[in-house]
Amino acid sequence: MKKIPKSHPRYHSLVTREVISEAMKKGLIHETGLIAHGRGEAFDYLLGETTIPPADAAEKTAAAALICATNPIISINGNVAALAADECISLAKAVPAKFEINLFHPSLVRLRKIAAMLRKKGIKTIYGLNPNAKIPGLDSNRAYCSKEGIFIADVVLVPLEDGDRCQALQRMGKTIIAIDLNPLSRTAQAATITIVDNVIRAVPRIEQWIHVFKNTKRRDLSKIVQGWDNKKNLGEVMVFLSKRLNSLS
Ligand code: ATP
Ligand code: MG
Repeated sequence: MKKIPKSHPRYHSLVTREVISEAMKKGLIHETGLIAHGRGEAFDYLLGETTIPPADAAEKTAAAALICATNPIISINGNVAALAADECISLAKAVPAKFEINLFHPSLVRLRKIAAMLRKKGIKTIYGLNPNAKIPGLDSNRAYCSKEGIFIADVVLVPLEDGDRCQALQRMGKTIIAIDLNPLSRTAQAATITIVDNVIRAVPRIEQWIHVFKNTKRRDLSKIVQGWDNKKNLGEVMVFLSKRLNSLS
């Protein structure tokens, strides 16, 4: 990995780019994953590269939904594996939730590489390696998922999901928690709970909320989830963005 001087004003951003670039060279990420990362970076710049209050509210609600779930699962793709594997593993233990690998550009080689990486980190059960069910309404290979994993899950955390699959999962009646820095993407618009934050910050923050809720009654957590208004929260994100840009102009 290229050495980046700590004194560089964009140090963290450049290190993250190196991580993404290395992951592509190792075959964990498809080359279009780099483009998706760039789009995310642009939105993160606009947000001020911080967890904004509406995102924290969504992270809190996501934690409540994951605790209340009967069958929660975290969907992993190349970018997520490269940027937040440890954070996702830690969150999965705290909930507890299952893991499924699902790639936008399906490839058995890449699937196995991501699985091997997760196994090295101690994850024993990984769904998605032998897909045996189909998400209705999706016509590409992306429709395949695991019957014991995403197919039967009631709450699915999809950090960095494609809009089509998010909409199709939503139509199955599942609670979809999306992490997406672009509040205008189809994923952000279609999810049940949209977290407009960087996956690197969002996943640990959801876990912090899980710990905060340790002694909270299910009934109270359920009320938080029932009271969630995703459109309103996305509106608050837009207001935050426009106020921030105005204050800088
Ligand atoms: P959609 O399919 O939802 O309409 P899209 O086609 O614009 O969106 P995709 O390429 O499908 O986008 O998915 C990438 C999404 O992930 C982008 O919206 C991007 O902002 C977001 N993203 C990229 N990197 C990160 C990150 N580190 N944390 C959170 N979101 C990210
Ligand atoms: Mg897309």
